[in-house]
Amino acid sequence: MKIGLVGYPGSGKSTVFGALTGIPVETGYGADKEHVGSVKVPDPRVDRLAELYSPKKKIYAEITFTDLRGGHSGELDRQALNAMRQVDALCQVLRAFPDPTGEPGDPLGELAGLETETLLADLEVVEQRVERLRKDRSNPGELALLERVETALGEEKPVRSLELSDEERRMLAGYSLLTAKPLLLVLNVAEDAVAEGAPAELAAEAERRGLGLVVLSAAVEMDIAQMDPDDQREFVEALGLAEPAVHRFIRGAFELIDLISMLTAGPDECRAWPIPRGTPAPRAAGKIHSDIERGFIRAEVVPWQELVERGSEAKCKEAGVLRVEGKDYVIADGDVVHFRFNV
Ligand code: GDP
Repeated sequence: MKIGLVGYPGSGKSTVFGALTGIPVETGYGADKEHVGSVKVPDPRVDRLAELYSPKKKIYAEITFTDLRGGHSGELDRQALNAMRQVDALCQVLRAFPDPTGEPGDPLGELAGLETETLLADLEVVEQRVERLRKDRSNPGELALLERVETALGEEKPVRSLELSDEERRMLAGYSLLTAKPLLLVLNVAEDAVAEGAPAELAAEAERRGLGLVVLSAAVEMDIAQMDPDDQREFVEALGLAEPAVHRFIRGAFELIDLISMLTAGPDECRAWPIPRGTPAPRAAGKIHSDIERGFIRAEVVPWQELVERGSEAKCKEAGVLRVEGKDYVIADGDVVHFRFNV
């Protein structure tokens, strides 16, 4: 699962990438290299479990971000659009701070701009395919679906806004349509505007499209990322925030690709395991080790809050909140799981 940072040149993609990953990257208008980095998903549940067990290791879920380049001319070019096809979800960075010439940002314009370009790129792909299918009549089901998509795109409706069955989604997956990809908006504001929140008009536009919106100042977050944890806390509080804004952003991105966290806890390690929503227990066990999936007997499951509140698995058992689940159980977000297996 890879998440692409997209946006117009100068919107702050590289700076956001640097703040997310701690990888120092060249920023500014000349910088034109694609970067990939993995990012730990901040998770207070893992921290609370670690307070309980004092484990040797504390391991967070990780997701991969890539800073997609391309688009030198102040516009998104082919290269940029093609790079977007390779990722599972998109985060669009919108510039809301003045550029070096003092020109204010136009986040609404950038949002509409990327939407138009991705709609057109998808339309091109779909039209070509529709033409082919009309000629060879090989797949009427797919043709009907693509005609529906073509009409929607023509009416400026992104594919992600359409009601599609799982089967239809599968049929479309091979086309890597850009407007089908989940999208999160990141408003990159000036340093002194971080506590203000999003402008009402932009918030309304995001809501109308059903998109998440995170406000941050990439420059500030870059500084925060380089501080030690105590200074970080003080600085973030002084800004009037509860935590670094990139933390909210990373969690938003994690939800965007429809992942949840299964938790494991013990004296060796407390750990979050990213799994797709809807994963049955044996397959989730397979993430830890293929032997556990193969020899799966049962899963002992307790919601993390119960475990933290009651203080031990034994106490959860006594209180009847530790459940024994079989192979059909679907893991829920925040389940602390202990697998029993036999190989
Ligand atoms: P990209 O082209 O989208 O990758 O944008 P960059 O990350 O290279 O940033 C473009 C310019 O904007 C650089 O000079 C950054 O230092 C600057 N910049 C990025 N984020 C912020 C911010 O939050 N505030 C201010 N004042 N400048 C920023």
